[in-house]
Amino acid sequence: MQTSLIWIVLATLLLACGEPSDGDDIDAGVDGRVDAPPGCTRPELDAPWLRTLLTDSVGQLATTPRYLPTERNAARTYLSGQLAAMGWTAQTHTYANGANLSASIPATMGSGKTIVVGAHFDTVSGSPGANDNASGVAVVLAIARYLKDTPCRTSPVTIVFFDQEELGLFGSRAYAQTLTPSNVLAVHTIDQVAWDADGDRRFELELPTPALEAEWQAAAAVVGVPVITTTTTGTDHQAFRDRGFAAMGLTEEYVGGDTSPFRHTPNDTRASIDSYVDYLVLAAKLTSQVILEEVSP
Ligand SMILES: [Zn+2]
Repeated sequence: MQTSLIWIVLATLLLACGEPSDGDDIDAGVDGRVDAPPGCTRPELDAPWLRTLLTDSVGQLATTPRYLPTERNAARTYLSGQLAAMGWTAQTHTYANGANLSASIPATMGSGKTIVVGAHFDTVSGSPGANDNASGVAVVLAIARYLKDTPCRTSPVTIVFFDQEELGLFGSRAYAQTLTPSNVLAVHTIDQVAWDADGDRRFELELPTPALEAEWQAAAAVVGVPVITTTTTGTDHQAFRDRGFAAMGLTEEYVGGDTSPFRHTPNDTRASIDSYVDYLVLAAKLTSQVILEEVSP
């Protein structure tokens, strides 16, 4: 009884001390940093368009497999249109037997190194690839959309949709050759982020550098999701790591075993991930928190 009374008194005192003063002291943000310059607002992670963007793009992409040249071409056309609608210009990066699609979002201030965020858009033959990997593509589209609402960006961001990951990282290997590690701050790739049957909201961070691991853990704390680090290779981030880039991957619990049983089958459909849209939304918020933190002044 007495203890709780002391706590009430203490809490009251703390609240009183926390009242804003009307002095002209520096206005610090909630995390203790000095606020960004005027006009440098950051978009809310809880964006009103987020869920619709994710479900629409997964639904559109997963109407067919994206294996044949015509199917992959149709996917590129769709993604190009989505980027154009956000005000970004997509470019096709053609290599031997395929083509990646990228968009360069310039910095508006400062001269930070380039941040790369990508996901593969191809599938194996016969699979509509809703989880693998329309889900990752949708998250990357969401980042492009958040950046449209981020007026102050200290680093350029390159959005990339990789071709032919399923055949052996062909697209990401070709794209990595167009960049120089010393000009790139980080490479983040997203692959399979729409399965959470056990409902624990956990994501796996694949082979992050210590600095990237710290960034993602901080973002996970903001978004309120658990993350665990694994040593999974075999997807696009490996193509960049092999060439000396600071790279990492985000995925569902692939090592943990809570991963889609429909991978690489005709059953990897939009309907099969219907129950996990909340998880896909969290993947988008988590990734966006990392990228917005990296670009913000
Ligand atoms: Zn994949």
